[in-house]
Amino acid sequence: RDGYLSEESVRTVSDTLKIPIAELWGTVTFYHHFSRQAPGKSAPRVCTGNVCCLNGGRELYESMKEDGATEMPCAGRCDDMVPVIIDDKAWVGFDKDSLEHRATPMPVVNPGGIEECCFSQIREPGRATLEGYRKTGGYSGLENAVGDMSPDQVVQIITDSKLAGRGGAGFPTGIKWKAVAEAPGAPKCIVCNADEGEPGCFKDRTMMDHDPFAVIEGMTLAAFATGAPLGFIYLRYEYPETEAILENAIEDARASGLLGDNILGSNFSFHLYVRRGAGAYICGEEGSLLNSLEGKHPFPRNKPPFPVTHGFNDKPTAVNNVETLASVPHIVANGSDWYQSLGLDDHAGTKLISLSGDVQRPGNYEVPIGLPLQTLLHEWAGGPKPGRTIQAVTMAGLSGGFLAGKDLEVTLDDPCIKSKGSFLGAGGIMVFDDSRDMVAAAHDAMAFFAHESCGKCFPCRIGTQRITERLNGATPPLGYTEWLAEIEDIGSTMKSTSACGLGMAAPHVTESLLRYFPEQVEHHVAGAK
Ligand code: SF4
Repeated sequence: RDGYLSEESVRTVSDTLKIPIAELWGTVTFYHHFSRQAPGKSAPRVCTGNVCCLNGGRELYESMKEDGATEMPCAGRCDDMVPVIIDDKAWVGFDKDSLEHRATPMPVVNPGGIEECCFSQIREPGRATLEGYRKTGGYSGLENAVGDMSPDQVVQIITDSKLAGRGGAGFPTGIKWKAVAEAPGAPKCIVCNADEGEPGCFKDRTMMDHDPFAVIEGMTLAAFATGAPLGFIYLRYEYPETEAILENAIEDARASGLLGDNILGSNFSFHLYVRRGAGAYICGEEGSLLNSLEGKHPFPRNKPPFPVTHGFNDKPTAVNNVETLASVPHIVANGSDWYQSLGLDDHAGTKLISLSGDVQRPGNYEVPIGLPLQTLLHEWAGGPKPGRTIQAVTMAGLSGGFLAGKDLEVTLDDPCIKSKGSFLGAGGIMVFDDSRDMVAAAHDAMAFFAHESCGKCFPCRIGTQRITERLNGATPPLGYTEWLAEIEDIGSTMKSTSACGLGMAAPHVTESLLRYFPEQVEHHVAGAK
């Protein structure tokens, strides 16, 4: 209503709902975009995420401070100019006087000419409308499923396809759905994790904006397969225009008998709603997301129990990523063998990769799993900027740390990337050319994790902060040997004792920095004296 949360309004909520005011303040201050004073959401938020920092984001923010601007972590537009969100509109630019309104993502290309899954129809004109979606094969999977198949058969197709979670964890989707279908308790629930907060990842926004019905049909098939009558899309705050696209698509599907009661004249019903986050990376973790969805403080949940038995409101819940769900209609329509055959060698399927940073053609690419990274970087994306060479890339956005040197010869599949101490994760790859200071890049990555650590457990909360301090040289000087020992000690403690993936993954940044760039680290430590 007001665009910000005044003390008076928070007290009113506290009194009315009988929630202790300290608990409310804890939650209000936890989310990045809950403003506590006017002009609130009308003030510009400028992206100073890791890629935007390479492209002048910090300078743009400094120039807009006099306009009341605040910083914003990665806003998921790393293939574009620096994003600025004002109210519910996103703008992009390098200069505050020439910002352009940018409602939809950049177009998607297929330079390798490969057979695609998620992106196979995304360039068709009108695909984002219900009419255009149906004209290009949309809803044929749901019609087959509801008309001719049992829920078990849909689960079996997805299991046979070897589709695995595309949000980062890589858990087999069919096994997850089977567990939800077999778990006692009702109503079951399908949750689409659209909280794409990993820096350098912007593929899910492209899917939702250009092909929203693929996500909705995927969720409807998941509901049919598991027996869930209820679903939510948990959308990150930083995608304001996507919210309207999804809401309109849901309304159109409902009006055409493709959502709601008695879908396609059957006795299968599924009700779908959009919920918008308020800016917290940790809400991409499924336990945090579910707590946020329930209106609770968004700490990760201890596991077990897992969401497949105790998810939304403690009922069996399938939490799936946007890309995973958008793959489902294609698989149900074309079969599990077709999907498997899209991968190279023994790998099944495809992966959307968000490529950004120091490369000539950043953007979203659908790659066959097993594609050489060098093919993506040099043949598809045009290689580094003129006169430069590629020094390093990140994997899994930031969570997989860096790859460099000979390890840039990897293929894009988890067995290969894990053998180098990293992982593919959600598929964000940032490129750093030979002009970049890798200690500074590692510092910015760790500062992000320190900012986003939810604070629930001590090793992550303090560890990310201490490593950030060591990487910016602000703490009392240490000799190189002591510096290394301290970083390694903190990292190994975080990996073995953190309660969720953030604290376990953050040390990948320093481990890989030390593996590939010991001279830059030694120089940094000497300079901090
Ligand atoms: Fe929170 Fe970090 Fe612990 Fe995860 S590891 S629960 S982000 S403090």
